[in-house]
Amino acid sequence: MDIYLDANATTPVLAQARHAAIQAMVDDYGNPSSIHSTGLKAKSLIDGVRALARRLLGAGDGQLLFTSGATEGIQTAVLSSLGALRERRERGEAIGSLLLYGATEHKAVPEALKHWNRLLGLGLQVQAIPVGTDGLHDLAWLAEHAADAGLVCTMAANNETGVISDLDGIAATLQAAGSRAFWMVDGVQALGKLPLRLAERRIDYAPFSGHKLYAPKGIGLLYVRPGAPFTPLLAGGGQEGSLRSGTENMSGIAALGAVLAALEDGRTFRSGTQLQRFRDRLAEALLSAFPGLVFNAPLAGSLPTTLNFSVPGLPSRLLLDLFDAADVRVSGGSACSAAQAAPSFVLQAMGLPDWQTASAVRLSFGPAADEAFIAEAVARIAACGLALRRSCLAGPSEDPLASDGVLQLSAGGASSWLLVDGERRQAWVLDPQPEFNERVARLLRCHSLQLTAVLDTREPTLAATARADLLQACDAANLAQLITETDAQGWPGSTEAVYTLAPPASALQLSRLQLPADATHPDGPRAAQPVWLLQREGAPALAFVGAAAEHPALAQLLPAGTLLCSDAPGPAALRRVATTSEAAGEPAISPATLAAFVRSQPGLRLVDVREPYEQLLSDMPALHGAELQALPLSRLADPAQGAPAWLAEPGRPLLFFCRSGGRSQQAAQTLRRLGHPAAWTLEGGLAMWQSQGEPVFMPAI
Ligand code: PLP
Repeated sequence: MDIYLDANATTPVLAQARHAAIQAMVDDYGNPSSIHSTGLKAKSLIDGVRALARRLLGAGDGQLLFTSGATEGIQTAVLSSLGALRERRERGEAIGSLLLYGATEHKAVPEALKHWNRLLGLGLQVQAIPVGTDGLHDLAWLAEHAADAGLVCTMAANNETGVISDLDGIAATLQAAGSRAFWMVDGVQALGKLPLRLAERRIDYAPFSGHKLYAPKGIGLLYVRPGAPFTPLLAGGGQEGSLRSGTENMSGIAALGAVLAALEDGRTFRSGTQLQRFRDRLAEALLSAFPGLVFNAPLAGSLPTTLNFSVPGLPSRLLLDLFDAADVRVSGGSACSAAQAAPSFVLQAMGLPDWQTASAVRLSFGPAADEAFIAEAVARIAACGLALRRSCLAGPSEDPLASDGVLQLSAGGASSWLLVDGERRQAWVLDPQPEFNERVARLLRCHSLQLTAVLDTREPTLAATARADLLQACDAANLAQLITETDAQGWPGSTEAVYTLAPPASALQLSRLQLPADATHPDGPRAAQPVWLLQREGAPALAFVGAAAEHPALAQLLPAGTLLCSDAPGPAALRRVATTSEAAGEPAISPATLAAFVRSQPGLRLVDVREPYEQLLSDMPALHGAELQALPLSRLADPAQGAPAWLAEPGRPLLFFCRSGGRSQQAAQTLRRLGHPAAWTLEGGLAMWQSQGEPVFMPAI
């Protein structure tokens, strides 16, 4: 069952709102512009919802018009104010040179400013108001620039951090500066959570969006202060008093009305104090599940429904996969930018360190959350923490997983490799990269492994620095067996020596080979370098080649069929010397045809390529009788269980799966690229496989 903790992205639709929408579609379906009874009924519905919104928002005599959502409200407000600025300028009045917006504003605001500034030919400078590490606008900066601003845009509460703006401070600053600027306040995240008292403040425009508060997507509101300039975005049939033409979205308005009625009657939504208690429980659960966790905004000045945090050493993608495996839906920032996996610009604007901006996770719930929902969320957060500990990713491990063979550490633009002899508790690190040192040290500690050797394909000075950095990150206790008599690339003893890494039953032999210098390399001449060859009986050998995957001498140097493990990130690091063996064909299998596919592939093996902490958290769906293997993508090169073993069995069909289909697609494509003809990926991953008829656990609304 889902625990949906991404309410700042959107919310489910409240039961009352669903009923109201259906009633507006089925019974009260009239066009409010019609003058017959059916139309009059629709008109009365709109009037009722508008009056309700006016009371709740403290909108006084201001205009409230229904829009399709906040983005439309923002466009209308920006067009209206910029249109008025242009008129002022044409009349010879000074309008300043700046259009200001808070540096943490939703993208819709600066993009709208740039768009309309260009279209209206205003040529004003669009500039961000800086914020402090607390996320609050720098009022001293605003005081300096306010007199030169034509429009100021400051959100009421931030969608990523929940930071609540000091609207009274902003109003006072604008007034003290004698600013004539128009003022837009994006009220999206504040609706239902903060009293806005719109008419008491000098706010000119305030857009809102229904789907952030249990109404459907596609309905919103725009408040316009009496006397504020207005230019319709949509001209046409004159609906909404000609402020916004187009037949009204009656089902959306009815649904929004039901939500607002629930807000007013106080029975459906929790009070601010209750919400704060809920947030405190979630915050406590997070702190005890993830040692070292920091909150990215002060909780005291934030919405009681939003938590934004980072955990040292855990990128947000890893945490999202972890939570998702426990069926807890959180996000890595705003939903709009989530797909781009870029560091959060909001946290960057707050001046937080890079590691915090790159590993931020947002957890947000709606004011309809109840005790049972929060209790379940707390339990799942604890389970996530436990799964991480058991996978050696956070704190001391309570149940270290056995870890033999080859592990790839990969991120950004590079890979390091770890060879583990589980029996003797020894680890060899190949081409260490500083960004993985912490992780290697943690793996060693957690699995009680001894670092035995640090091998490097790179030139000696680089190799020496990388080795020294890694040793510094490791505990002395994990270095007791380190071989110190080595050559410049970390190889113990003479160049001919061969080391047996694992117990005799699955003996892994490691040997040092030498690649000659390559004067004809396309990226410039390459010096001679070592290559480490790992061999296991019955499977293709693995050659760790660092940056030399394209070296023309590899084919002669290595045994036929050797797989290359380069320093490239992810499965792209795995190559053949010559890529002529690539297997063609479409590797994707849709969940709908899965059962038939399994029947058509005798001996099929389903390979779960998610990380161990994800596997620990989720039950497997029904498997249609196929054999199941768990092998994280980071262990794809493992000689005993991964690609080398599968390539030795080319007739065995393999179907990879993961959470969303991304990693399994990489695995299937890699296997095909390496020449395995029967590798497939489950399209859409477990998310699609499990979606048929799964109950969803959401607040009782
Ligand atoms: N403003 C804020 C603060 C938001 O969080 C959002 C939605 O994420 C928007 C504006 C845009 O709202 P909509 O997508 O409903 O147009």
